[in-house]
Amino acid sequence: MTRILSGIKPTGHLTLGNYLGALRRWVDEDQHQAEALFCVVDLHALTVEHDPARVRRLSRQAATLMLAAGLDPARCTVFVQSHVDEHARLSYLLECVAVDGEMRRMIQYKEKSARARSAGQGVRLSLLTYPVLMAADILAYRADEVPVGDDQAQHVELTRDLAERFNQRYGRTFVVPKATHPAVAARVMDLQNPLDKMGKSHEATAGIIYLLDEPDAIARKLRRAVTDSEPGVSYDREARPGVANLLEILSSCTGELPEKLAEAYDGGGALKAAVAEAVVELLRPLRARHAELSADQGFVDGVLREGAARARAVARPTVDAAYAAIGL
Ligand code: ADP
Repeated sequence: MTRILSGIKPTGHLTLGNYLGALRRWVDEDQHQAEALFCVVDLHALTVEHDPARVRRLSRQAATLMLAAGLDPARCTVFVQSHVDEHARLSYLLECVAVDGEMRRMIQYKEKSARARSAGQGVRLSLLTYPVLMAADILAYRADEVPVGDDQAQHVELTRDLAERFNQRYGRTFVVPKATHPAVAARVMDLQNPLDKMGKSHEATAGIIYLLDEPDAIARKLRRAVTDSEPGVSYDREARPGVANLLEILSSCTGELPEKLAEAYDGGGALKAAVAEAVVELLRPLRARHAELSADQGFVDGVLREGAARARAVARPTVDAAYAAIGL
């Protein structure tokens, strides 16, 4: 059976980008079709300036939202990365296989290190090495597929390279995984800056729809979404990125093609209102379930404890085999 692994970082509140790019497919497809593991990758939240209490709170909130979105602990394994030591154990071995040039080429490293520098902060070494930890997250489970938004494509490529290199040098230990991306909304863009992805860790929030936003906040953010001065609605990602982003979000909600939807609206105002309505409806059940689960943290903690035990049992033999293969 295909094995799938993916995760979410607790660096901020989960966004519509996380949902449309990743979480929704985990719920609707992956947990039904494969042996699936999903984790809150809290170690990755330490790569930039962070507040310990906030990381702990956001980890729990992310896990609660994953369950609220419909991940079913009877069908898949939901856990927190730091509860399973195998991730960090394997990451070090992979650091001994990776070379520094390939790490410095990572686009997210370039962007995030520039952001940290311009905020007058030091660039943590872990910001450079975290794609290796991500490779360990995936390879420890011998995952075949990694369902992610396309911002993660380069990191999964690196994971493949490291797996192949390790297998070649030390004997076949890892499965070489492949990334899968959704057909539309693989990269949901910021509503205020449609050339930048909607990212939960960004400071400015007016262009970001959070999964727990109130319906009127969602409608307000969409009303103020930046488009362009061309009249009418047409789908052109290059020339009209703001309008294309709205069409893709709507397409992802309704299942209709963006090109078709473009024909159905004659102005930006009507399109924005339709997107707002569709997003509010899409998120309604998730918000309701989140409220219920938040009142039952004992249940969430139990799921995470059980999830970590299952995850450990899957990861340990592979990580032990890697230690033996590399000469330890
Ligand atoms: P973020 O950039 O919001 O911190 P994470 O690194 O935690 O996101 O990613 C969690 C998942 O959500 C990944 O699969 C990632 O590709 C996906 N994702 C994040 N932002 C977007 C986006 N704007 N559009 C589509 N998918 C996204």
